[in-house]
Amino acid sequence: MLLIGSHVSFDKNTQIYGSLMEALSYNETTFMFYTGAPQNTRRSQIDKEQVEKTKVKMKELNLPFDKIIVHAPYIINLANRQNEDKYQFAINFLKQELKRCEELEMQYLVLHPGSHVGCGIDEGIINIASALNEVLEKSKVTILLETMAGKGTEVGSNFQELAKIISLLKDKSHIGVCMDTCHMHDAGYNLEDFDKLLEEFDKIVGIKYLHCIHINDSKNKLGAHKDRHENIGFGNIGFPTLEKIIYNEKLTDIPKILETPYIDRKYPPYKQEIEMIKNKKFDKDLKTKILSEV
Ligand code: ZN
Ligand code: FE
Ligand code: FE
Repeated sequence: MLLIGSHVSFDKNTQIYGSLMEALSYNETTFMFYTGAPQNTRRSQIDKEQVEKTKVKMKELNLPFDKIIVHAPYIINLANRQNEDKYQFAINFLKQELKRCEELEMQYLVLHPGSHVGCGIDEGIINIASALNEVLEKSKVTILLETMAGKGTEVGSNFQELAKIISLLKDKSHIGVCMDTCHMHDAGYNLEDFDKLLEEFDKIVGIKYLHCIHINDSKNKLGAHKDRHENIGFGNIGFPTLEKIIYNEKLTDIPKILETPYIDRKYPPYKQEIEMIKNKKFDKDLKTKILSEV
């Protein structure tokens, strides 16, 4: 079974069950959500009944509950420690987020490593690792560090930096990596020969750490360090390369999550993009079709 889904919403009433319903409406076999608005720290109480309903429904449909992905809010920045209060706030918020994942019975939380904001990559890496050492101490959830585009002072735009962070962790049983195709392309990785890239990743980080891939096309050129996602096949990575990654045999068990932009900022493209992926053929009229259907 192709494990493909997208970023879906999380409503404070229907919660993860609502997220599943949205994913199913796009014919997805997995999905990813934020447990609240990614840009703020307001969070609702987790409703265990919705978790149970989700487990039952997914079992009925033969979909893997343990492959669902949670994304941490992007306001968490563990890389800079110039303001100790801010740094501690980020650590505490991440701890709460991990607790929410546990309540939701989720295994994976994707996290942006952070931006060093001037203190330098090396210090940024140390700040991230010491924060992770603290939050992972009793964690049952695995944090997946996302590969970044290298926009501004972002840490984690190459395999070496991620490997360095992991090497500094006391306990490596709950750490992993989430690749993002748009970010990797923008960071300067050519994705055309993905098998070669996976070999490189295996040598530097270790393939066993890879647990999720964000599948996005990119609005920008290779190595642009920008991070602007584009719909599948409409950007500079292109459909054939993304198709090869999605169907790569080494990645069968890894959930692939679309984070492509809504059409006209209003209409989710995921149902149509997934259909196109299943057809294995790029549809250059996809965006106009979505707009004509609304
Ligand atoms: Zn992300
Ligand atoms: Fe991503
Ligand atoms: Fe991004």
